[in-house]
Amino acid sequence: MHYWKSLMPHYCVRCGSVLETRIIEGRELEACPNDDFVLWRDPKVASAVVVEVDGGVVLGRRAIEPGYGLWCLPGGFVNDDEHPADAAMRECMEEINAAVELTSLICVYHVHKRDAPSMVGIAYRARLVDGAELSAGPEMLEVRVFTLDSLPPLAFPSHRQVLDEFLKSLASAEAASPQSVAAEARRGKPPLPARAQSRPPRTL
Ligand SMILES: [Zn+2]
Repeated sequence: MHYWKSLMPHYCVRCGSVLETRIIEGRELEACPNDDFVLWRDPKVASAVVVEVDGGVVLGRRAIEPGYGLWCLPGGFVNDDEHPADAAMRECMEEINAAVELTSLICVYHVHKRDAPSMVGIAYRARLVDGAELSAGPEMLEVRVFTLDSLPPLAFPSHRQVLDEFLKSLASAEAASPQSVAAEARRGKPPLPARAQSRPPRTL
């Protein structure tokens, strides 16, 4: 059963009529009986950021539910007037109090939920802007850098998946060029080839 069927009836945003359930393009949806309004069920869009510092990655320990007390990547929901890359940078400012520069796209992931809209996540790799220092924003108890072989329990399986994809990207970069990218990243040097570094974040 769709999670929204247990909710109160919804109303048309154009005429205020109670929506009725209808089959539209093969999907069961709520639609207005008087006009063409359809309440489409779209996923939420979120960002997650792997910020590399000194060969480790930045995690925050959550001061809010869900996952209070557990660790997570900085990130959060994308506002409707916001590019996902801007949302990723904004969330870093809010959660780890640090300006970051996005250096590449790690992956796009999907979190299927039964009791709420599903989520599409966009994961970026990033580094601190020169001079930026880490501290906990209001939604975090603390912020720390972890090496990749000593990660703490994470609040969200999707963030584990993002870190796995990040590790895979390091491994394949190392396989392609053993002396350079991945090895440098582990030593805390700028992680990407010059070509990618020269791109402004918005073009990701
Ligand atoms: Zn209507």
